[in-house]
Amino acid sequence: MAGNGKAALVVLAGPAGVGKSTVVSRLRAEVPGLYFSVSMTTRSPRPGEVDGRDYFFVSPEDFQERIDAGEMLEWAEIHGGLQRSGTPRRPVEEAREAGRPVLVEVDLAGARSIREVEPNAHLLFLAPPSWEILVERLTGRGTETEAQVKRRLETARVEMDAQGEFDQVVVNDDVDKAVEAIARALTASGN
Ligand code: ADP
Repeated sequence: MAGNGKAALVVLAGPAGVGKSTVVSRLRAEVPGLYFSVSMTTRSPRPGEVDGRDYFFVSPEDFQERIDAGEMLEWAEIHGGLQRSGTPRRPVEEAREAGRPVLVEVDLAGARSIREVEPNAHLLFLAPPSWEILVERLTGRGTETEAQVKRRLETARVEMDAQGEFDQVVVNDDVDKAVEAIARALTASGN
């Protein structure tokens, strides 16, 4: 690795249904040393959730202190402002300094925020082969209601229009090829 020797920080975004969870689980199994960023949240753990593995669970006061201290790479209010969640900076930094590539999965707003505070982050947009295929995957998954699908597709339009802001667009046509392209970005130098 050249320059400051830090491992890469790859920020993955893309519309719901494009295949993010699918490629993330493959990358976690296949990229040696990969750190998949754990989000921090003010909501309570659900049964079976483990602090530090599923989320870092913190109080609203603690979360606010971290925002004030510049310790969040990105964060957002969820559920109409009742809760907050985001990406803590420190675990990401520690992993990169230890030579472990970092993958963060965020939405468009999250990707934009990370760009602001980490100019050397590699922003990667996972795109569907076509709009029709995105609609098929989203409905074919069968995990959301018709109203939810409609809402996700409205958001997807906005996200698709923003792909020009990303450093790299990977089309998720063949999963193996998409995984390979993202793995390459992860194992490149982080400078
Ligand atoms: P996301 O996490 O982006 O919402 P998912 O990983 O849940 O998307 O994928 C949505 C659906 O598309 C799932 O049913 C998944 O199996 C399927 N899928 C993902 N990648 C591909 C691909 N390259 N070709 C065909 N189907 C795919």
